[in-house]
Amino acid sequence: MADYDLIVIGGGSGGLAAAQRAALHGARALVFETGRLGGTCVNVGCVPKKVMWTAAQLAHALHDAGGYGFDVAVGGHDWQRLKTSRDSYIEFLNGIYARNLDRSAVELVRSRAKLQGPRTVLDADGQTYTAEHIIIATGGYPRVPAVPGAELGITSDGFFELERRPDRVAVIGSGYIAVELGGVLRGLGSEVKQFVRYDSVLRNFDPMLSGRLMEELAAQGVEVVTGVVPQRISRRDGLCLDAVDGRNFEGFDCLIWAIGREANTRDLGLEEAGITVDGSGDVPVDAFQVTNVANVYAVGDVTGKAQLTPVAIAAGRRLADRVFGGQTDRHLSYELIPTVVFSHPPIGTVGLTETEARARYSPDALKIYTSEFVPMYHALTQRRPKSAMKLITLGEDERVIGCHIIGPGADEMLQGFAVAVRMGARKADLDDTVAIHPTSAEELVTMR
Ligand SMILES: Cc1cc2nc3c(=O)[nH]c(=O)nc-3n(C[C@H](O)[C@H](O)[C@H](O)COP(=O)(O)OP(=O)(O)OC[C@H]3O[C@@H](n4cnc5c(N)ncnc54)[C@H](O)[C@@H]3O)c2cc1C
Repeated sequence: MADYDLIVIGGGSGGLAAAQRAALHGARALVFETGRLGGTCVNVGCVPKKVMWTAAQLAHALHDAGGYGFDVAVGGHDWQRLKTSRDSYIEFLNGIYARNLDRSAVELVRSRAKLQGPRTVLDADGQTYTAEHIIIATGGYPRVPAVPGAELGITSDGFFELERRPDRVAVIGSGYIAVELGGVLRGLGSEVKQFVRYDSVLRNFDPMLSGRLMEELAAQGVEVVTGVVPQRISRRDGLCLDAVDGRNFEGFDCLIWAIGREANTRDLGLEEAGITVDGSGDVPVDAFQVTNVANVYAVGDVTGKAQLTPVAIAAGRRLADRVFGGQTDRHLSYELIPTVVFSHPPIGTVGLTETEARARYSPDALKIYTSEFVPMYHALTQRRPKSAMKLITLGEDERVIGCHIIGPGADEMLQGFAVAVRMGARKADLDDTVAIHPTSAEELVTMR
């Protein structure tokens, strides 16, 4: 008999959720974690990022306060104090994670794990552990390009270690992490240049969102430099970025790589266990999170799909419900996953972008509603950024297949609309819902 019913490699969002749900169903579960409990999200992702975003939001609010009659003189910002408070909040969360694990009777081995076969795992001392089922939940790490001098830059991990706010920052990348880190630094007073390979940030998002955000970045003084492919980083008078096309950018005291993430699959013994990895290093799984080897599963970022904390948690819990809870068809659908970008202002989005919808359906089948307005909050502030919203509907009954929002409150607004979209809401359902006034959200139920 195997030592355990379930071994989970990785104590991050997906791994902990799967192990705890399995234990709830009565399984003997063991988690291996080599770093801090909670994984990327708690330690170097969502949580510290949201703390920093809130700090930058406050900086914007302090600026706006004059419009509401306040005479505010801001005496500076203490980055070190913010970091210390943030770090202790995260330590507090680490403690909660450990206690929850204890309470749910999941065993924890604080060691790097390596597969020795489809049912056997080795710890760093070479001790073996066996299980009927194994889940790979090892997450990922930030990618750094193979260009000379790349090591002079930092990644999002290094961003959270910064002891002081850098004054002149180059952010390389166009995805949500690049936008978020750049936005925090700009909000707290750094000069920020953001270098993107193509022509805009957030290229995979609805064009209305990326377009509006590009305008907002310009208004806030974030210079987005387009068409940049880095060739070399060097240190002359500060850090310099040489681009492939011959352009040089210099004078930075910090350069942040935010160009994507790689799966943590190296030296994990996947080959020994016969588990396939795809060309990008991700572990492919079927709709039930099963790898090419029966009884070995993967959840979360390591699968390369919808790399978000709630996705990893949902996939892990549903897998445990299926394998240990007798819910034979339980699995996560990767359709209609809502997501938020913590830019300034934030973005909320669910469903198809207009570009995706137009590629998939005939133009006659689609009806698109948009709205652009200065939210009431900004009626009295010096800056007057516009919010923008879009609903994409399909067919005669105008089923909502895409909902995209940028503006203050978009982050909190989206969850409820995501439920509606998932339930198959039609435009008429939104119209029949009485508006909440005065809010920005009411625009979504009053669009013409
Ligand atoms: C800057 C940043 C901001 C983000 N913001 C958001 C956000 O706002 N909202 C959101 O939903 N998502 C956000 N994410 C993404 C989110 O953090 C990830 O999707 C989520 O953490 C994935 O969970 P996971 O369980 O797959 O992996 P992880 O949380 O990365 O956990 C994997 C764990 O496995 C451990 N491990 C790896 N290899 C081994 C081994 N061989 N043996 C033992 N342990 C091992 C690692 O130490 C790690 O703790 C953000 C990510 C980043 C980087």
